Amino acid sequence: MAGLRHVLESEIASGKTIGLVPTMGALHEGHASLLKKARGEVDVVVASIYANPTQFNNQDDLAKYPKTESDDLLLLKREQTDVAFFPQTAGIYHGLSTMPINYGVLTETLEGAHRSGHFDGMSTIVRRLFELVAPHRAYFGEKDWQQLAIINRMSSSEDLGVKIIGCEILREPSGLALSSRNIHLSSQEKKAALTISKSVFDIKHRLTRKSLHDTELEITHELKRAGLEPDYVKIVNANTLEALQSETNLGQARLLIAAYSGKTRLLDNGPV
Ligand code: AMP
Repeated sequence: MAGLRHVLESEIASGKTIGLVPTMGALHEGHASLLKKARGEVDVVVASIYANPTQFNNQDDLAKYPKTESDDLLLLKREQTDVAFFPQTAGIYHGLSTMPINYGVLTETLEGAHRSGHFDGMSTIVRRLFELVAPHRAYFGEKDWQQLAIINRMSSSEDLGVKIIGCEILREPSGLALSSRNIHLSSQEKKAALTISKSVFDIKHRLTRKSLHDTELEITHELKRAGLEPDYVKIVNANTLEALQSETNLGQARLLIAAYSGKTRLLDNGPV
């Protein structure tokens, strides 16, 4: 940790800008797209790789989380990352406990309702990384839309001193959103999972035919018919994640889906 501070302080002292890309490892081209964006915008790109235990409400999920450290290092090198930061729990949590974060609906709905404590763990570690790295810019994927919305809220309500950059979802040619968890999908489960991305792509068209509620139900049924187990299918205000009261505000809306394909929980979302 002291080494990291030393390296970065000398870079900052010489007027260089720092960009941070926080990840949990098992890196793929989605992560690479964040690193590329950072590479184009700042002088020093720092990637952190840390599967934060307090973000996992299920310890089996943490144990199962893929670890591919040597491949991760190759990808970081390929993307010309300057600093790879692998925090250890004892060090990063030293003198720190998980701080509850409550932005009402924004933190309580969707992932907040299904993964108790997840956003408390996420926001605690993001703040800590910001403190340690002191980046000018930090890059987060739209893939985790609720996480990005919460970080944007944190950034506007606390003075984090970091510009938050949201990055588009990178997908396989099939449409499936890239995720470290895809590695667990059988070919059958992967095929079924395409129903999720298809629903994201079709949403505008569906809403020309049906109400918000019926559209959510229709997608839920289609996911089930494909063999998936949906946790939620919701069309919400993109910034507050509040339920939409009517079809009049669709310009600000976003479809968010979480569903299991086999034992793998997948997330996807897109504009309405
Ligand atoms: P993770 O390692 O899953 O915590 O992801 C680290 C960062 O990469 C988060 O900001 C994610 O939203 C982002 N990310 C993950 N998958 C993708 C993807 N397919 N496209 C763009 N960003 C992604």
